[in-house]
Amino acid sequence: MVRFTVLASGSKGNATVVSGGRTRILVDCGLSCRELFRRMRLMGEEPETLDAILITHEHSDHVGGVAVTARKLGIPVYFTEGTHRAWMRWISPRRQLTYAQWLEQIRKQAAERQAEAEVAAEEGEPDETDLVEAAEATPEAAEPVEPAKAKDPTWLPAVEYFQAGEPFEIGDIAISSFTIPHDAADPVGFVFQAEGVRIGFATDLGYIPPNVKAQLKGLDLLLLESNHDLEMLRDGPYPWAVKQRVLSRVGHLSNEAAAEFLEKVYDGQAAYVILAHLSESNNLPDLARVTAERALIGRASLIANRLLLAEQNEPLFPIDF
Ligand SMILES: [Zn+2]
Ligand SMILES: [Zn+2]
Repeated sequence: MVRFTVLASGSKGNATVVSGGRTRILVDCGLSCRELFRRMRLMGEEPETLDAILITHEHSDHVGGVAVTARKLGIPVYFTEGTHRAWMRWISPRRQLTYAQWLEQIRKQAAERQAEAEVAAEEGEPDETDLVEAAEATPEAAEPVEPAKAKDPTWLPAVEYFQAGEPFEIGDIAISSFTIPHDAADPVGFVFQAEGVRIGFATDLGYIPPNVKAQLKGLDLLLLESNHDLEMLRDGPYPWAVKQRVLSRVGHLSNEAAAEFLEKVYDGQAAYVILAHLSESNNLPDLARVTAERALIGRASLIANRLLLAEQNEPLFPIDF
């Protein structure tokens, strides 16, 4: 069975579970670990059964909970290299230190290196006692973790790289990634395929370029951004610079742009179309729905399509194939 569960969608956090065969992937991890687990259990998904986390891009609404969740579950995180690097820069910002603080930091690091070198020289490989002590020294870590790693906020149990545009697999799920136009280091969308079911996943994109149009074909489920209503955004509360960013070619997809795609490009084959990443300030669920419905309604072949809206504050019911 293939199952698709949107746990959260929007600028305050994104997370979706895609299951196929014996594999279960979390796509983006923008909720806290606690909230993620709560929502998964609410939808009958066991967090412990996740095999991997897959990241679209490094904005905090997509990665906010990734380190804690990956560590807790001991599972790998799949990024493009550009996204991983940007995430690491984001999570370990260079702090401004006074000279005294800087000197103190250098001394501490030298002392730590010295202590580690001494331990390594004396004892060789760490034995069980070391691991127990390490676990006790870091009470928040459930598993024994090397102290140096536990302190590093960018440490993950395993990092796997994929390249935008190159197909790859995680367990039983085949994944095509494609570059999307968005103001991040190396943002991507995905098409997931398992058991003959194809699911397209595209949010956080300023417009729909030809390479994305080419990917979003022959789908059984399409999740597409419908971020803002153009008029609401123009007249809304955002400062001018933010409005420009959202509207730009590397910002977010408007209701109108999503509708234009649905009307003119989309092949109408999906059983479900999910509108996603709706802005809470510059959109209304009814407005997004009506705009998309209008685009679909003129096409008799699309009557089978079920139109759903992904929400920020609660999960969407699981969709099974
Ligand atoms: Zn986002
Ligand atoms: Zn983004």
